[in-house]
Amino acid sequence: MSKYYSLQTRLLHNTHKVDKATGAVSVPIQHASTFHQDSFDDFGKYDYARSGNPTREALEIAIAELEGGGYGFAFSSGMAAISTAFMMLRSGDHVLIPDDVYGGTFRFITEVLSRFQIEHTFVDMTNLALVETQIRPNTKVIYIETPSNPLLKVTDIKAIVALAKQYGCLTYVDNTFMTPACQRPLELDVDVVLHSATKFLSGHSDVVAGLAVVKDKILAKEMRFLQNSFGAILGVQDCWLVLRGLKTLHIRLQQSIESAIKLARFLENHSAVREVNYPGLESHPGHTLQCKQASSFGAVLSFSLQSEDDVRQLLNNIEIPVFAVSLGAVESILSYPAKMSHEAMPKEERHKRGISDGLLRLSVGLENVDDLIEDFANALDAIVTE
Ligand SMILES: *Cc1c(COP(=O)(O)O)cnc(C)c1O
Repeated sequence: MSKYYSLQTRLLHNTHKVDKATGAVSVPIQHASTFHQDSFDDFGKYDYARSGNPTREALEIAIAELEGGGYGFAFSSGMAAISTAFMMLRSGDHVLIPDDVYGGTFRFITEVLSRFQIEHTFVDMTNLALVETQIRPNTKVIYIETPSNPLLKVTDIKAIVALAKQYGCLTYVDNTFMTPACQRPLELDVDVVLHSATKFLSGHSDVVAGLAVVKDKILAKEMRFLQNSFGAILGVQDCWLVLRGLKTLHIRLQQSIESAIKLARFLENHSAVREVNYPGLESHPGHTLQCKQASSFGAVLSFSLQSEDDVRQLLNNIEIPVFAVSLGAVESILSYPAKMSHEAMPKEERHKRGISDGLLRLSVGLENVDDLIEDFANALDAIVTE
């Protein structure tokens, strides 16, 4: 299939649109854990399913095609993909990490990588001059999440890649919030793209999965080796669920983003709301950069109320969104970073990073946007009239 079709079309018409053996229009789930070999001189394409399986391979090819090339890898969770990618490092290496990195990645870097003498420095990735001062001779990876969680800060991917190349480092991008439908870091010369496919890619809050896409052949060989060595592969049923979710990625995001823009505007104008963080708002400091390096703004925003009490009151009155960790689903999900994703972070650290006790994160789903706005209006009005 020509790669010149839009992503919207390629989500449906790709290498796996029909099964070559049967013509089936849905990728068959191949449960076999091992594959018969005709002789020991001539092993077939598959031998043992940890090393390779046709259903997983279909997903790995699909994500690589969507990210614009390279080699795909499917893992049992986003964290499995991220940790395996960090295992390309060796003891004595150093990594630069955004100071508002995803909580699980924060834990892995500070509490696991540190056991193997792999050092880290947290830095505000949006401050390029500061990033450069933190690069050391042993820095091997600069890690980016953009827009970041939960403050939606936008990092200049191209500028970080240029810095990384100048100092001989690799760049990793966690592309969970954007997905290849909105942002394709490999096209900006990033080395490794990582995903929690638990979120938008699968999109229905029914599977935990991770994906990695690696640009270069030598790095891909190393990832393949590590994927097989650690063995944190994605099971075939879950591969199929992600493949199914991918088919509607474009239309789901389009709808959710349209609603997110309307909701952000509504929240920005409500007197109970102190601040709204959403790169789709012209007032957002990363707006112009976001327009330059991504094709859209995503469906996640955060906003802050005056206090923890206000948050409690909003949660008592809001009806539609699910109150839960996670994001990127058909249903809107409201979460409270201070007590959920960033609970493990000491309070001073959290406040220093701008994650206040009044901050809420909203992942906008597929509900009717007027219903969502009405629901938020009622819950926020109750705070004001209190
Ligand atoms: C959820 C998430 C992860 C971790 O993925 P899991 O599938 O939960 O292991 C990593 N990065 C970001 C940005 C996430 O939102």
